[in-house]
Amino acid sequence: MMERRQPIPVEEAVKKVHQFQKHGQVEWVPLKNSLGRWIAEDILADHDVPAFDRSPYDGFALRAEDTKEASSEHPIEFEVIDHIGAGIVSAKTIGPFQAIRIMTGAKIPKGANVVIMLELTKTFEKDGKSMMSLKRPLKKGDNISRQGEETLKGNVMIKKGSKVTPGVTAILATFGYAVVPVVKKPVIGIISTGTELLQVSDAMVDGKIRNSNLSMVYAQVLEAGGEPLDLGGVSDDFDQSYEAVKAALSKVDMLITTGGVSVGDFDFLPAIYEKLGAEVLFNKVAMRPGSVTTVAALSNGQLLYGLSGNPAACFVGFELFVKPIIYKWCLKENPFPVFAEAKLTHDFPKANPFTRFVRASLDFAGSQLSVTPTGLDKSSAVTSIAHADCFIVLPGGTRGFSAGDQVSVLLFHHEGGAPCWMTN
Ligand code: AMP
Ligand code: MG
Repeated sequence: MMERRQPIPVEEAVKKVHQFQKHGQVEWVPLKNSLGRWIAEDILADHDVPAFDRSPYDGFALRAEDTKEASSEHPIEFEVIDHIGAGIVSAKTIGPFQAIRIMTGAKIPKGANVVIMLELTKTFEKDGKSMMSLKRPLKKGDNISRQGEETLKGNVMIKKGSKVTPGVTAILATFGYAVVPVVKKPVIGIISTGTELLQVSDAMVDGKIRNSNLSMVYAQVLEAGGEPLDLGGVSDDFDQSYEAVKAALSKVDMLITTGGVSVGDFDFLPAIYEKLGAEVLFNKVAMRPGSVTTVAALSNGQLLYGLSGNPAACFVGFELFVKPIIYKWCLKENPFPVFAEAKLTHDFPKANPFTRFVRASLDFAGSQLSVTPTGLDKSSAVTSIAHADCFIVLPGGTRGFSAGDQVSVLLFHHEGGAPCWMTN
């Protein structure tokens, strides 16, 4: 007799998977290779920034008290006793009515307590001496970038679980991280099941299709920060599929199979999980597409994802159940997707017995977000995935929706993330 599967709500399914979340280990990579990786340890300032009082301008360093009487009618003259560029420290100490010509970034010389911009001064020669005059009084401390004004030594500059962006690399460089502690990527194996599958480079054959899920899931793993491992394809044969899954386990942190999780005669994944002694967390989720999405866990906590073979269902299954686990592995603080409200631009007349995730694209119309389905809303559709940047999330138990209705959208490209699963 065919097994009757009991659907569980999406939120519950997400929670079940997260009981098996793991954190990745640390590995050190050269700074130049760190872009896009996840920081594994807090990044600390190894010195104050600025590390010394410095000049923010090209100008002259001098003593503010010597400028007290300055005015347009009564310019005050200073002897220029040195000339320093960035990176050079003057050996001289400034005395009364002396100045040092200073460039942006140079350390403020001893005795000086103010900098005046070059544009506000006049330079000239007098008695063979280099001179400068100014026409306004200055306040002690003006135009000096103070030591530690940006940050102090010991401060946490980047928290672990942050992604390395170009801006982050500048911080890493500033604080001497020639090698960067990042999270070792989870290795995620992908096995494609289906006798109908051709390789991308194969010519079309009657009754067969090219394997599009592999490239898609491979890219999804990469995008999320995992290391995909293509473990090839298997035809719909129990022994072959079982051997492929079993052989994969020692090579991966998690395993994804695509296809073979429905209740068809050639859907062998449920029996494979049983033979492996894996605990099936769920084998039916109250969602469309992807209701057959199955997740099982081995006794060592290794997750086995049985994603639907239907491309749209496969995509959704990954975004909901795999991506947050990869993010969590990478120590990301907020691994769950962000939701927003948007106005539906077209009627969506289908009823929704289960929570429905409709591939869609988001637009700003004035200050209002609007959302448009990207094409054929069938779980077998490949083309509508490419143009989508969000899912419209229609709650289960609702009838159709009309243009103008406010709907909830899940932003799967949004890097921010939420601390928990937040739909209602
Ligand atoms: P299954 O989940 O194995 O029942 O497959 C459901 C549907 O998805 C079938 O029409 C399959 O041909 C199709 N399918 C399965 N695997 C893939 C794949 N790797 N790429 C594209 N379509 C697939
Ligand atoms: Mg199949």
